[in-house]
Parts: sequence; C-alpha cells; structure tokens
Amino acid sequence: MKIIVQKYGGSSLATAEKIKNIAKRIVASQRRAKTSLVIVVSAMGTTTNRLINLANTLSKSPQGRELDRLLSTGEEVSSSLLALAIKSLGKPALSLTGAEAGIITDQIHTKAKILLIDPRRIKRELKRGKIVIVAGFQGISQKGEITTLGRGASDLSAVALAKSLNAKRCEIFSDVKGICTTDPAIVKEAKKIPSISYDEVLEIAGCGAQVMHGRSVELAKKFRVPLLVGSSFSKEKGTIIKDKTSVEAPCVSGVTLNEKEVKISIFRVLDRPGIAAKIFGSIAKNGINVDMIVQNVSKEGYTDLSFTVSIDNLEETVKVTKRIALVIGAGKVSFDKDIARVSIIGLGMQSHPGIAARMFSVLAKNRINIKMITTSEIKISTVVPKKDGKKSLRAVHKEFIE
Ligand code: ASP
Ligand code: MG
Repeated sequence: MKIIVQKYGGSSLATAEKIKNIAKRIVASQRRAKTSLVIVVSAMGTTTNRLINLANTLSKSPQGRELDRLLSTGEEVSSSLLALAIKSLGKPALSLTGAEAGIITDQIHTKAKILLIDPRRIKRELKRGKIVIVAGFQGISQKGEITTLGRGASDLSAVALAKSLNAKRCEIFSDVKGICTTDPAIVKEAKKIPSISYDEVLEIAGCGAQVMHGRSVELAKKFRVPLLVGSSFSKEKGTIIKDKTSVEAPCVSGVTLNEKEVKISIFRVLDRPGIAAKIFGSIAKNGINVDMIVQNVSKEGYTDLSFTVSIDNLEETVKVTKRIALVIGAGKVSFDKDIARVSIIGLGMQSHPGIAARMFSVLAKNRINIKMITTSEIKISTVVPKKDGKKSLRAVHKEFIE
C-alpha cells in the first residue's frame, strides 16, 4: 500500500467554505496519485488561542489534564468536519482522535512527547478504502489521559505518523507557497526553494525565520521522512526537504534576518580555564538558550565576553549574568538591544571557499559595520546595527541569490 500523509494548517481550515475546498483538493489528489491518504489537521483558524484565552478567564493558571482536554477539542472539531465534507463528495472517510489513531505519549501535559504509535487501526481503515483524518497535536498517555504535544505540533503528529506508516512522503500544507530564500515581506525578490536539506531548514529556523516546526524537521531528519512544504490554496509545487549532499546544493540556499536578539557583554573576565563553563553553565541551568558567543583576545590575563540571547530572555539573562559576574569577580555587565543578526545558510558552502569574505565585502560596500561574527560548516552569521538589518538582508540576498 502506497501511503501519503498530508497535513493542513489552521488557516487552511478556518471556515466551513475553506474546509469544503480542502475536501475537494484531497479527493482530487487521491484520484491523481492513486495512493492511500492519511490527513492530519490543525484546529480551525485561531481556535487554540481562543480556547487558551477562555481558560485564562476562568483560572489563574490553567494547566494539566483539563487544559489538554480543552485544547484537544479544536482538532477534534476540524477533523470531524473535514470527514463530513469528504463524505458528502461521495468518498469514504473517517476521522480519528489522536488516541483512536494509536498515538501514545508520555504524561507531560501541554508538551507531551510521542512514545510510540500503534498504526493498526489506521491501516485497517485504509485497507477498507477510507481516507483517514487524524486530529493533530494530540495523543493519549499510557495512563489513558489526553495530552497535547506543544504549540504548532500538528506538524509533528504528521511526521510521526508518516514514519510509523512507512509513508512515501509527508506533505505539509499551509498558506505559504514553500520555503523561500528569504522573507518575502522584506525582500520582494525572494524565491521559492525547490529542494533543500533538513540541516539547512533547521539552521534557517534557528536563525529566527518561521519556516517549519523545528522538532518536526528533526524527527523527519532522524527517520529520513521526505517532507513537502507547500500551499493549500494553489497547485504549485512547494519545497521538498530531504537528505542532500553539498555537491547538489547552491552555495547559499537562504538568507535570514533576526531582529529579536540582544547582545550581553561581560567585561574584565579572568582568562582562566573553567570560567566560560561557569558562566554558560549557569545561564543554561536557567533554561536560557545562548546563540552566538564571542570572546575577545585577552589582555593582561583578562578578557571580555559577549553573547546573544532572544530578547524575551533579556531581563532574566542580565540578572543571572550579573550574579555570576559577582561570583567570578568579573567587571561590568552590559546589554545592547540595537542589534540584528543576518545569516547565510547553505550546504554548498562546504565546497565553495571564500563565501565569508564575499559576505563581509558586500556589507562593507554598503558601509555596514559588523559587530560580531560566527560561523559553522553551513552557516555564517553577522551581527549588525539594528537600523541596518533590512538593508544588510537585501544586499546579501542580492549578492548570493538574485
Ligand atoms: N492547534 C495547535 C496550535 O495552534 C496545533 C497546531 O496548529 O499545529 O498550536
Ligand atoms: Mg496552528
């Protein structure tokens, strides 16, 4: 049996009219591809937010099993409505909750992890010729409690189902046409990428671009599930995400801009083994994710250290850093909100030398001052003044992509 898993996002299912259109699309795609289809759905439109707001009006901190039971209803509504719509087009369909679909998770409410999937029920229904629609974002714990998998995680349900059903492909449909070379809202020359590797997508997501649910890409990578990201409103082919080698890849696949980071600096840090471990150890212990780290050349046994974190963590990071600075006898701690990070990502960098130099000279030509630089095998990030962020993005995109 050839199986394809398709996932439709909330904006594609926001109204009855839209659900009807998706039903037509599903029926047509099944006729064309002659495959068994498993459809995973998100809740209609902004349902999940609305349910959270409702819960907040009745409880100071809604959580646990009651919140999960509430949130899981969003996907139950959209899955049964879609099944009704497909059946009224004359095709057999059946909707299943996460529990009915055999998605077993741990007990951690609102961010449960999938432990295993028992796909027998789904397979049975597919054999009977049904289009099976599964409520995304939810499962059931081994104790029999309904759980949800974290915001945006119906992508994860889709990838996990594709793996357990040994599907040919997992197709993620939403209101974007695919993964673009950069943010089309800032650079109108942004182009859709026809195919890209898992690692590049993970780096692009890590650089602040909202492309796809990160954990889902990691899972797809781990089990080599090919992904297709595309629009649910057009027939245009989206972006394929799969294993690739650097030889097939262009030197730069994507360019990103992150304006939501801050730079923290600690001055006069003793240049001794174990100090960096102490600083970043205590930041990590507080659950704060550090992005770029730069240590200056030391002078007379002292050095300065700078790193970036998400702006949402600014206050807490400064607090923790000041505390640790005191413990290790370092000097002042300061922060700089006036930064933007521009990054280029590409598997092909490994086989094209001189990419970094080209990026820096483009910025120099545009009189943009680089404040920090970091590189990895497939990524080069520069921190520039915030006012120059968009300009840098356009210049770098022009150099490498257009
Ligand atoms: N409905 C859930 C959310 O909004 C899951 C999803 O959309 O993927 O987070
Ligand atoms: Mg959603």
